[in-house]
Amino acid sequence: MLKRILIANRGEIAVRIIRACREMGIETVAVYSEADKDALHVKLADRAICIGPAKATKSYLNRNHIIEAACLTGCDSIHPGYGFLSESYHFAKMCSEIGLKWIGPSPEHILLMGDKSKAKETMQKAGIPVVPGSEGVLESVEQAERLAEKIGYPVILKASSGGGGKGIRVAYSKEELIKAYGLVKQEAKNSFNDDRIYLEKFIENPRHVEVQIIADEHGNAVYLGERDCSIQRHNQKIIEETPCPIISEKLRQKMGKLAVNAICQIGYSNVGTIEFLVDKDKNYYFMEMNTRLQVEHPVTEAVTGVDIVKEQIKIASGEKLSFSQKDINITGHSMECRINAENPSKNFMPCPGKITGLLLPGGNGIRIDTAIYEGYTIPNVYDAMIAKVIVHGKNRDEAISKMKSALGELVIEGIDTNIDFLYQILGNKSFRDNNYDTSFIEKELLSDT
Ligand code: ADP
Ligand code: ADP
Ligand code: MG
Repeated sequence: MLKRILIANRGEIAVRIIRACREMGIETVAVYSEADKDALHVKLADRAICIGPAKATKSYLNRNHIIEAACLTGCDSIHPGYGFLSESYHFAKMCSEIGLKWIGPSPEHILLMGDKSKAKETMQKAGIPVVPGSEGVLESVEQAERLAEKIGYPVILKASSGGGGKGIRVAYSKEELIKAYGLVKQEAKNSFNDDRIYLEKFIENPRHVEVQIIADEHGNAVYLGERDCSIQRHNQKIIEETPCPIISEKLRQKMGKLAVNAICQIGYSNVGTIEFLVDKDKNYYFMEMNTRLQVEHPVTEAVTGVDIVKEQIKIASGEKLSFSQKDINITGHSMECRINAENPSKNFMPCPGKITGLLLPGGNGIRIDTAIYEGYTIPNVYDAMIAKVIVHGKNRDEAISKMKSALGELVIEGIDTNIDFLYQILGNKSFRDNNYDTSFIEKELLSDT
């Protein structure tokens, strides 16, 4: 078993990983930037090392500093969490080259799936339907126009190296496409330092449904059900739940088996998520694969009883999966709300600052994953997500009631948050009636802004 893990992340996910390590008797080393010296992950880890200034490129994205910290403190492994370096081929490769075990898939699999247009090709070969679109990246705007003409508008342009909902634009006409082409290329260059983009059919009114897979290094793989992440703003998830309320048991098994079959074919190990769009007629199309732990993993933990982070560590230690597909039973319904430090009435402007008062909800079936505490100052340089509220009820209605009750109890003073906005979604009839798609927020809640 791994003995000492460096956690190359911050915030709630660093705390989440430290907790799993503690339960397993594994030592932890936290890294932090100068802006994070008072952060909770620094206090909870066995040791903590400062790796640079606030700016992420100088600290949490600084591969050399993180590797030096791991060597200095005698770590045998690195857990990257999500975001930051979690999908960095170069970082994963550097780690494995100097003998630090990477708690995640191989660098080659990160590389393969990190190129989203190449990932589509690979999955198509493995028998998964993909969203129709360009074969590989676009060479020119003229090529994009020809392709859009052929598959029909609307189309969507996406950054090959994209993530976090950035570098994505829809075009309903040739004029829009020409404009979007330049904009997405620029966004892709700015955000991902890679201006390659690809085109696909814009699936109208879809649901975002993703399959969680887990595989050991001995060829055993299992799917842990799916999650519906259709409640999004600007292509970023806000509420996630499982089971997905629009798919049948038969479809669940079909998509799960396809996903497992595909990852077995490519020899993938550790955890991963295969994201699909599901249209009105229940056709499903592969969109991308995330080769890491996902923000919304707790809902899957709630309904399956599998501790995904502990399993990641066991897999990286060389253990075989301790369960098979038939051991996975889905119990009840789980939902997660992402609490962001932002002001919905000011166009969701981030609102970092000092937390002057904090009351967290609790009770049966309520889980809070967060790294904030009273008196803590949220730095203005990182992600606005400051907490996740996860509930587990016997069915969807109970999960929604529990979530409303929990959000009603939650008090965060000193900063603006999206708590009221989330509450509004939970009270919306279309949401409760399971009658919505990925455009829900734009259509139902923000149409007049
Ligand atoms: P999830 O599917 O786990 O919700 P998200 O796409 O919301 O994943 O991303 C999780 C976190 O990682 C967010 O903080 C997001 O900003 C960040 N992130 C995801 N992909 C990238 C990327 N390619 N580059 C930079 N940040 C990313
Ligand atoms: P990211 O890497 O940023 O997570 P994705 O490719 O997963 O990017 O897309 C993010 C979101 O954008 C999806 O969850 C979906 O809501 C929307 N989207 C992406 N591709 C399409 C498409 N072809 N048709 C309709 N919506 C799409
Ligand atoms: Mg995605």
